[in-house]
Amino acid sequence: MNKEDIEKRMHELMSIIDQLNYEYYTLDSPSVDDSEYDRLMRELIQLEEMYPELANPNSPTKRVGGKVNESFAKITHELPMLSLSNVFTESDIITFDNRIRKENIIPKYVCELKIDGLSVSLKYKNGELLYAATRGNGVVGEDITDNVKTIKTIPLKLKKPIDIEVRGEIYISKKTLEKLNQERIKNGLEPFKNARNLASGSIRQLDSSVAAQRNLDAFLYHLPNPLDYGIETHYEALEFMKELGFVTNPNNRLVDGIDGILNYIAEKTEARPNLPYDIDGVVIKLNNILDQMRLGSTVKYPKWATAYKFPPEEVVTKLKDIIFTVGRTGQVTPNAILEPVNVMGSTISKATLHNEEYVLEKDIRVGDYVVIIKAGDVIPRVESVKYERRTGVEVPFKMTDTCPICGEPLVQKDSNYYCVNPKCDAKHIESLIHFASKGAMDLTGFGENTVEDMYNLGFVKRIPDFYHLEKYTNELMLLEGFGEKSVQNLLKEVEESKKNSLERLLFALGIRHVGLKTATILARKFVDMDSLMNASLEDLNSIPDIGSIIAKSLKEYFSDEENLKLIEELKDLGLNMKYLGKVIENAKIKDKSFVITGTLNIKRDELKDMIITNGGKVIESVSRKTDYLVLGENPGSKYEKAKLLGIPILNEEEILDMLEN
Ligand code: NAD
Repeated sequence: MNKEDIEKRMHELMSIIDQLNYEYYTLDSPSVDDSEYDRLMRELIQLEEMYPELANPNSPTKRVGGKVNESFAKITHELPMLSLSNVFTESDIITFDNRIRKENIIPKYVCELKIDGLSVSLKYKNGELLYAATRGNGVVGEDITDNVKTIKTIPLKLKKPIDIEVRGEIYISKKTLEKLNQERIKNGLEPFKNARNLASGSIRQLDSSVAAQRNLDAFLYHLPNPLDYGIETHYEALEFMKELGFVTNPNNRLVDGIDGILNYIAEKTEARPNLPYDIDGVVIKLNNILDQMRLGSTVKYPKWATAYKFPPEEVVTKLKDIIFTVGRTGQVTPNAILEPVNVMGSTISKATLHNEEYVLEKDIRVGDYVVIIKAGDVIPRVESVKYERRTGVEVPFKMTDTCPICGEPLVQKDSNYYCVNPKCDAKHIESLIHFASKGAMDLTGFGENTVEDMYNLGFVKRIPDFYHLEKYTNELMLLEGFGEKSVQNLLKEVEESKKNSLERLLFALGIRHVGLKTATILARKFVDMDSLMNASLEDLNSIPDIGSIIAKSLKEYFSDEENLKLIEELKDLGLNMKYLGKVIENAKIKDKSFVITGTLNIKRDELKDMIITNGGKVIESVSRKTDYLVLGENPGSKYEKAKLLGIPILNEEEILDMLEN
């Protein structure tokens, strides 16, 4: 994007966010999910950080979102009511913690539930409620005293006759929302979208009898002037508020460092569905008040606190285009080009649409807003369409009938289309990229673009050409980004790869349905390439975990003259054709399933390989059937789940010991 386009995008984002803020804060009727709003906000923040000279001083990134409704009396806050910065991943939390430690602070934190309601400021004089105000635009709020008086858990009179301001969240329980919505549906009215917007709409009713019927509730979580009461930590402030008669949340917890935060998040992620009210994350606050004051605030949020937002169950984004790609097998697949979106910590801009049938069945169109999911390591996919957001300009899908690379007509097999042109470049490039990739021959330095360049320049047209690259040493050194040293490294990588164990080569050959796991099972069983090539269909079928589809695919591959010639050539070039792992039957590992969580000293892929080589299985999620959880540093929620299910837990030393045996 050039600067003009960037500026245009920033303007566009500002006006979209302003409109969404209006719908959310003023109308209490959002038109998009919070995760979509958060994504647009993050994109704008990133652009402003990269191009500060283009940042507008009135940008929504620099303002607290709400507006003041003119029908209410106005109250100016003695201290501004700020928003919170957001974090979305474990590594964001670590960055937040590091920033605090850089200031020579050894932090203790208070973790709290992020109640999905709206914030309120309560002012008491001589222990009696003087007024209640919304956050408004952060500086001026709306006077909602009459409505707040209808909330039974907010005391009108405190247990001590003091002057004090406290802040907290007004919310509506899940049960109340459900009950009110049942009544509304019965009366032919639109149900309320969510508890947060209902709470906000209810507290900003001009007629307080309406607010009274809504059964609002509140948790208090902030004392703006703790030092005035001799209080030096946030946790003490919470205790103090409780003593005065306020309801504080029983889940508030004082924790030490990152581990405590991550455990709290894992625990509350699990508890969330069973809580009687909605939460949308966890708030992490530095406990020591003097440290808080040292860190200070931006105009929008305090630097001593942040809100971890739960990953959205679904992420919505715009489908900008559908393109067709050709895989190693020649299969032509439609792919969605998306407006970039963060799903579970990674930015997704492309997702698979599988095949024609899938797209037509869901009627996915260019211009649609679509729901994306990414489960585990699976490639992200377009799950469904937000039909209600269509404007009429969306373009219906049409499958291509020619190869997007070579232009040859496609051939249909079942519900898939294939390019069967043996000379098609796309298939070749993809198979070469796969051969060099991690997990396959693992040729470091041979990234996708490098392999494609080498193909286009004629250096590597077929797999054996990787092993003749020294012929092109001089030419390679002329390529952008390459020098003598890096070319020598490439050649060394290629040479080293000749020693790879059989399973890597098997996987690298790109035989249909043979992933690394299957390749490892085959290599352990047959030990060398010749035995595998000579195996009958029955031999293959009789191996546990090798189904008939894989067996058929192997037989097909090894009956093709071209493939046999390729394997002979590779043998002649000196590539190892034997399984080099120990063919040991490790009874402790064999047929056992392992789930790995957290950071380990050993590379995760290496550990996975070792477990598989010893006859075990590595799976992604914990269930009752899991035999062991391997636990590293900073584990995720898998650890909590394993504890709950009573799954035996191994540390790094213990699993390595088992493998050693
Ligand atoms: P926020 O909701 O991200 O965080 C700040 C707020 O958290 C505080 O003002 C307070 O009200 C609340 N909170 C709840 N529990 C708390 C606790 N224990 N301690 C401290 N604060 C607590 O920020 P925001 O500025 O209120 O709103 C921005 C968010 O609102 C966005 O991230 C988005 O999720 C949502 N939003 C959505 C849309 C939409 O169109 N869907 C539009 C605007 C805003």
